[in-house]
Amino acid sequence: MPMQENSVVLFGIDSGNFYVINKLIKYLPNFRFILTKGICKILKSTIPPLTPPAWSAIMTGKNPGKTGVYDWIIFNRRTRYIKIVSSLDIKSPKIWDFLSKKGMKSCIINLPLTYPAQPLNGYLVSGIPAHVGSRRKITYPPDLIKEIDDVVDGYEIIPNINLRIEGMEKEYYQEIRRVLIKRIEVFKYLYEKDTWHFFMPVIFLLDSIHHYYWHHIDERHPAYKPSLARKYSVLVRALYRIVDEFLGWLLKKSSEDHFDLIIVSDHGMGPLLGNFLINKFLINEGFLNITASSGPDSKGIFLFLRKMLNLPIFKSILRNKMTKQLIEFAFKLLPHTLKGKFTERGQDVLKASMILERMNPMQTCAYALGEFGQIYVEKKEIIPKLVNKLLKFFGKRGLKIDVFFGNDIYYGRYLNYAPDIVILIQDNMILPDITLDSGKRLFVPNALKAHHRIEGIFLAYGERIIEKLQDKRINIVSVYDITPTILSLLNIDIQTDFDGKSLVAEEKCLKKSKIEIVIDKIVWEVACKK
Ligand SMILES: [Zn+2]
Repeated sequence: MPMQENSVVLFGIDSGNFYVINKLIKYLPNFRFILTKGICKILKSTIPPLTPPAWSAIMTGKNPGKTGVYDWIIFNRRTRYIKIVSSLDIKSPKIWDFLSKKGMKSCIINLPLTYPAQPLNGYLVSGIPAHVGSRRKITYPPDLIKEIDDVVDGYEIIPNINLRIEGMEKEYYQEIRRVLIKRIEVFKYLYEKDTWHFFMPVIFLLDSIHHYYWHHIDERHPAYKPSLARKYSVLVRALYRIVDEFLGWLLKKSSEDHFDLIIVSDHGMGPLLGNFLINKFLINEGFLNITASSGPDSKGIFLFLRKMLNLPIFKSILRNKMTKQLIEFAFKLLPHTLKGKFTERGQDVLKASMILERMNPMQTCAYALGEFGQIYVEKKEIIPKLVNKLLKFFGKRGLKIDVFFGNDIYYGRYLNYAPDIVILIQDNMILPDITLDSGKRLFVPNALKAHHRIEGIFLAYGERIIEKLQDKRINIVSVYDITPTILSLLNIDIQTDFDGKSLVAEEKCLKKSKIEIVIDKIVWEVACKK
């Protein structure tokens, strides 16, 4: 019997969203089953809806002000220190930390931000930011990697794909499929290996699928072409069916082993039309002063090399099996830190540190860093002027912009890492981009066809959880509610400053936390202004 009494399985689907699930529903019998027989709600992500703060919120029940995680980069404003976020940067205890203290066993697999693997009472297999070449500190206990390598003939953390190269639908399908099948085999193997109180398998790959194939499944997308859509939407469907089959396996186990099953995503997904060069806007409006580049430095060279790898010519190189293997072999020989510089996240850090280095601090009052171009302000008094400029700029072009202030949406000890302003343009159909581009354009294309949305998914199945949730009137829950809900399902009473509430508590106890009330108010005010 692999699950203890009153146990919970939390199945994480990165970027899971109701748009694609509904679109493919006739091919997904197990999703259809849980949508009709289980509990189904919208899960509100963090602002901005980004993988690191959102999964950190799900695993701790706390907002970025308390976890210290706001983005893929960790940026300390006081010291100007910048690096890629890792498991060591999450400043609040995770669900399994509480469980380990009580002697209860957890198994966590492929959850983003669990690299390097940290000790717990149970097993952990890291997710990103471990990259293709990472082999060390991938699992806890450390020897577990050898065991799962044997089970699936070489475990793979992520597929070796570059989402910036267009036209690789067939090749990437094969890569993603192979890694996905291995991942699910490891889920099943580890499930059966011991007796768990808390089991958390996560599929990150759907996020890559959405980013890359979205225009083939959404006829609203300007890049949608019926002939290509017919050809490639079947690939998306086939990958989703693999996930659906695993869901079917979990549903069967939940009846046999009597656990409560919860399915969550860290954020939703929707079409992406292009990027808005936010730092260039700040330069044009006189908020940011950048000194001219004094020639190529090492950061510039890494950014340039990676850009070369995105060129269409590289596509034909990758299609040749021999050259592909040769490149992969050469990549393996690189030291770990060098490899990191070529990853998407390594490039984020390079771009951000280049801006900080070239910025003229005496003449700068605002700059943007991070995947959502979050704005950091040096002199708070300029905030109204800057917001006015943004509203005017987008208003003139008939584009909707939602502006959120760090002071309102973050709360806790780690505000030193927090941005001052976060913007969403057309519900994130246009992504703010920190790149310093020498051209005149402020809007540029993005190879990705979709990007994140605040609205993710919450699904649940199991006798206890259905009984406790079916009469509740709330239709929208938050990423902050997941940890308190799981702890109460496991009968653990923790008195700590969660930013969410247990969804299975008595109706009268479903009071919103301070941060939820504030965020609801802001989101509502933004909605009213539209
Ligand atoms: Zn994500």
